[in-house]
Amino acid sequence: MQRKCIKAILLKKLNHALIYSQISFMFEPMPKIIFIFLYVSCLSLLTQAQNLGCFTQLSAKQIENLRNFQQKLSLGQVELGKKSTQFVPIKIHIIGNSKGIGYYSISNLMTALCEINERFLPVGFHFYLAQTVNYINDDALNLGDLNAIYDRALYYKMAGAVNVFFHDGGNQWCGVYIGGIDVVFIKNSCQATLATTFAHELGHFFGLPHTFYGWEGGQTPSNIEKIDGSNCRTAGDGFCDTKADYVSQRWNCPLFWNLIDPNGVVFKPDSSLYMNYASDNCHSRFSQEQILTMQNDMLQRGIAKTSASTALLAAPNKVFPAPSDSGIISTNIPFTWRSVPGAFAYQLQVARFGDWNYVNHNQLYSDTFAQVNLFGNWPYAWRVKAISSGNTCSSFGSADTFFTREIPAGLAPISLLAEPKVFPNPVKSGQTLYLQNLKAGKVNIYDAKGVLKWGQSFEGNLSFEVPYWPAGIYIIKWELPNHSYFQRLLLSEN
Ligand SMILES: [Zn+2]
Repeated sequence: MQRKCIKAILLKKLNHALIYSQISFMFEPMPKIIFIFLYVSCLSLLTQAQNLGCFTQLSAKQIENLRNFQQKLSLGQVELGKKSTQFVPIKIHIIGNSKGIGYYSISNLMTALCEINERFLPVGFHFYLAQTVNYINDDALNLGDLNAIYDRALYYKMAGAVNVFFHDGGNQWCGVYIGGIDVVFIKNSCQATLATTFAHELGHFFGLPHTFYGWEGGQTPSNIEKIDGSNCRTAGDGFCDTKADYVSQRWNCPLFWNLIDPNGVVFKPDSSLYMNYASDNCHSRFSQEQILTMQNDMLQRGIAKTSASTALLAAPNKVFPAPSDSGIISTNIPFTWRSVPGAFAYQLQVARFGDWNYVNHNQLYSDTFAQVNLFGNWPYAWRVKAISSGNTCSSFGSADTFFTREIPAGLAPISLLAEPKVFPNPVKSGQTLYLQNLKAGKVNIYDAKGVLKWGQSFEGNLSFEVPYWPAGIYIIKWELPNHSYFQRLLLSEN
């Protein structure tokens, strides 16, 4: 039952794809198009992690259960209709290498959990965090190495929950599900916003095969599913409401070439199902029979609860650092916020210049306190959000800015009297800006995104004509021999 999607057989896959391309082009021989297709395939398969396949190994027991359940579907013995929501405990493990590098970002995790609950809404499953996130530093697990997974995943696994491991390295698979140990591994780069690897692997977890079952790794099954549905229970994935699918490599929708069934019917596979290998943006659903199968699997597992905390929480009130605080010593900064009733955890983000694309700190805390080290002598912004165990879709509160500084050993704290003066402030483009009360050093002006706009060394007072920059907040950084200062400069509209 082993189905491989490993890179070593990429070439085989391509040959396989070529055969099918040629079949579909028999009617109009166009070798040029075949060439283009191959080129596109090579490019996408070799350069994008998102185009890696998945390693799935449903256990013999799972396949037997699936076949029995599909028999019941055929005999009309499965109860249809709406069922009550199942609240499903999920345990997240984030793997880095032995140095702790490569962790899946908490922001991506919050988005992934939020999206997965949306995608499983028609299934009636709602996932909630059973425990806090577990961090693991392990080079082999970080590479998604199968031997390491067999060897160590059971050790980390939490009983009675869906265990999902995110790892950074490895170029073989986007996702791994191994029935025997019943864990899911997802490569970080395969589960960014709107990706569907998570949904696909959870589909395997709950007993679903690929829609192209039997074709994995470029094989051709002896019993090929026909488009008329006459052998839908015995061929392919055994579902009668998922269209025949023979494509075991990643593809963009609609499929670029045609498939031909044993009766000679030319068709394209259904790209909308999570369990095929179409691009993530083509995916939007599980079929009704797939949904019934997952519901049955959940029933057998008995791990779901009848309720969970799913409140969308408001952001906490921030306590420290206070807004615009310019005296924050850069080591062990005690970030503090007020608790929010019902909060399972808080996500704290700190970013230099408030650029949230490059956060310096981004972690979950179960308490209302975090100690963080930052660089000295920079402006930072920070924000925090509260999540409930079953709802990670909440928003951050507003951000506050503060300035860090360092006290070099043996030096007294900075005397406020020595602070440089800037006027006028606010200033307009074209006006002269005076920088006074200086001795010697360097001055740099940054925009709100941290881009250096102007810089000069000085000895004594300075003045210059403000260029035509966009109106807004700018940061002046004074670098003096023993310390640095920050000041805000407001550039108003002319
Ligand atoms: Zn798969």
